[in-house]
Amino acid sequence: MKHLEPKEAYEFLQANPEAVFIDVRSEMEHMFVGHPRGSILIPWVDGPDWEIDPHFVAHVRKAASVNRPVVLICRSGRRSADAGLALEELPRNYASETALRYRFADDGAGELGLVAPVSEPFCGKCSRIRLTADGKIRTCLFSRVDHDLRGLLRAGAPDSEIAAEVERIVAMKEDGHHINDSDFAPPSRTMVFIGG
Ligand code: SF4
Repeated sequence: MKHLEPKEAYEFLQANPEAVFIDVRSEMEHMFVGHPRGSILIPWVDGPDWEIDPHFVAHVRKAASVNRPVVLICRSGRRSADAGLALEELPRNYASETALRYRFADDGAGELGLVAPVSEPFCGKCSRIRLTADGKIRTCLFSRVDHDLRGLLRAGAPDSEIAAEVERIVAMKEDGHHINDSDFAPPSRTMVFIGG
């Protein structure tokens, strides 16, 4: 996050027309105090309860969905700074990590992790497979098929053969859950029936 003086913000917006200019003040201020031309309203806190909007990050992510730069504005700079910190996503610990991680606005200890597999799918980097309690490999929680491994294990197959079979199965891993597709088909077994 970078703090910009008003003149710097203006110059940045002129030089970066793709930037999303967000007024984080309340709706009342936006409407009745006035707002800069081209700004959109996404309040950081708003009436009637004046609590931080728990969906603020999601709204901004939607508004800047193709990684457009974001410029925040408020009155004193305090709300913009807090909101900016909330938008600062922490880097993932590893590519297939499920949670989007954020630190707190007061820079205190701890962090917030949001796991949103439907609205923010992370399937593309998923490296998960599951060996079920009954000896099947499922390559996705939404798999429509199980791949049997127990047969090989019970038959005393050598490690090399088992490894080759696991490799063959993993190569068939689904590319995602496709929940949002019109032809989505639910998994053959739900998690409570899988175990493992
Ligand atoms: S839905 Fe399947 S591919 Fe996507 S993250 Fe879950 S297990 Fe991985």
